[in-house]
Amino acid sequence: MSSPQKSRLHDVGDEVYAKWPGSNLWFRAKVLNNKDGRYTVRYMEGTEETISQKHISAMSNFTRSSRSRSRSRSRGRSPGRKSKASPSRKAKQSPSPARKPRSSSKSRSSSKTRAAATPSTPTRQSARLAEKQTNGPEEVEKKPEMERKPSPARPAVATPVADKPVADKPVADSEFGGPVGAFFCIVLLPATVYVINIMCTEKSCTLAIPSIPKKLSNYFDSKAVMIGLGWFVFQVVLAVLPVGKVVSGQPVKGLQRLQYRCNGFIALMVSLVALGVGQAYFKVDLSTVHTLWLQLITTAIVFSVVLSLVLYIRARSAKPNALAFAASGNAIYDFWMGRELNPRIGSFDWKFFCELRPGLIGWVAINMCFLAEAYGSKSGWPNYPLIMVCGFQLLYVADALWSEEAILTTMDIIHEGFGFMLCFGDLAWVPFLYSLQPRFLLEHPQSLPWWALSAVALLNMIGFLIFRGSNSQKNMFRKNPYDPALAHLESMPTNVPGKRLLVSGWWGLCRHPNYLGDLIIGLAWSLPCGFSSLLPYFYPIYFFILLVHRAMRDDAMCRKKYGAHWDHYCERVKYVIIPYVY
Ligand code: NDP
Repeated sequence: MSSPQKSRLHDVGDEVYAKWPGSNLWFRAKVLNNKDGRYTVRYMEGTEETISQKHISAMSNFTRSSRSRSRSRSRGRSPGRKSKASPSRKAKQSPSPARKPRSSSKSRSSSKTRAAATPSTPTRQSARLAEKQTNGPEEVEKKPEMERKPSPARPAVATPVADKPVADKPVADSEFGGPVGAFFCIVLLPATVYVINIMCTEKSCTLAIPSIPKKLSNYFDSKAVMIGLGWFVFQVVLAVLPVGKVVSGQPVKGLQRLQYRCNGFIALMVSLVALGVGQAYFKVDLSTVHTLWLQLITTAIVFSVVLSLVLYIRARSAKPNALAFAASGNAIYDFWMGRELNPRIGSFDWKFFCELRPGLIGWVAINMCFLAEAYGSKSGWPNYPLIMVCGFQLLYVADALWSEEAILTTMDIIHEGFGFMLCFGDLAWVPFLYSLQPRFLLEHPQSLPWWALSAVALLNMIGFLIFRGSNSQKNMFRKNPYDPALAHLESMPTNVPGKRLLVSGWWGLCRHPNYLGDLIIGLAWSLPCGFSSLLPYFYPIYFFILLVHRAMRDDAMCRKKYGAHWDHYCERVKYVIIPYVY
């Protein structure tokens, strides 16, 4: 579809029609900024986007052709005229980007009052309409939502203003047991990383009270500090390389969508090649990682404490709408939760970077070091369970980085501030606890029959299918609710403009199908360790607790956001994580 009167320029403040990115739909919008032929516009439902001039058209174009349309209505409609619908008509007949189209023009008159209260029903017709939209809005038979007056059930959209304090300051919820709970988390979680790693060693791996190494050198080593810092800087360098696509995040707190460079998969590949080249050509001793294990843990923990302190101080002077919540009055709680949503230096986003790069790629790198060590030692080689678990975990991480932009619709990016909880989790907890099964298999090689290995591989694949399928489905839906690939899915409206909730497909099975898949995967990582020790099962056990708690937190956040609509959704999709069980 071509834009009407492409050459026309628009001034800041002009009301225009703008094309919704990724679709052929046109909506009313206001020009906020014009730079180098690209316009930042705010759609009526609040979303801001930067789009090119050719995707903007003056309102007058639409008004003019709208008149001609009404004139033409009095005449008979020839098929030819229908197929040459004007852009104005296209825009006027488009549904809001905030809503999926409801069934037909029949419902126009009654839809005002029904707008937010009733979930839409999937019909063949609605699927067909959604599909039609990709061919051009002129074929859509529905009045645009934005042109309706807001109904009592659907409050008017407040227009967000960037860089100004938001009206209602976000308030700290008392999560994790408030300041006391936060204090225990800050102390006990790092202690857990040490204790589990000290309990599971080459000598033994049991739940018995370990003999704790007492010398400082057991915990601190300058070489480990160099390795840790070198790795972090290396990942920063890879992340800022101008390769990989730049993706828009979700609109958060009325701010303009942030841009994220997604080159994580390239960073993973480069990192693995660097390890291989380092060992093959520069004789880098990869077993150092195993030798300096506790010292590397200390480096990661100290580093995450320092980074969290910097973030805590930084958040004190951040603008209110850049914060997840206003200062709670308790430094420990704020330090733990993290207040700033998207701490950035220029375009470098610390949270986005830490979530997927140093820790996650570090975890795979650690596994590769273990594999290289096992291969070098020759004893117990080929260690199939070790190869298998390293393969599963590589697949998990490679997939996360391949679908890197999917993280932009997750809780961590949208809701959580960046504080010690995420910092420590990303940089210390993940690499040094998630690699427990590979380290166990390196130190205690297992031999399993082929059928057991095959069954575990199948389990991993089933988990992966659920995990990836559900995460991709939600991500696609959040990015573009009109995606034709999702036209068969049913969704229900909410009180938040632009946000509907999926109630079919993976998201009709339970409220967190992605957690279910993740849990199955976690179990598949532990089963190759056999049953001689419970410690390699630490991950699926802890992960189950984490995800149940996370589901409860998400539930509370969504109830706050969506109100009665969330209750309605919960009635519709009854189970939390495991269908028919929980
Ligand atoms: P989700 O990706 O499920 O995100 C939750 C958000 O999704 C909600 O707040 C809501 O946000 C939106 N949402 C919920 N239900 C629906 C629906 N029916 N339709 C559309 N949108 C919906 O959760 P997480 O961020 O916790 O997890 C992401 C992934 O990361 C999961 O696979 C999880 O297993 C994994 N994970 C892994 C961890 C690990 O250590 N290995 C740790 C934590 C998570 P909104 O409506 O505002 O868009």
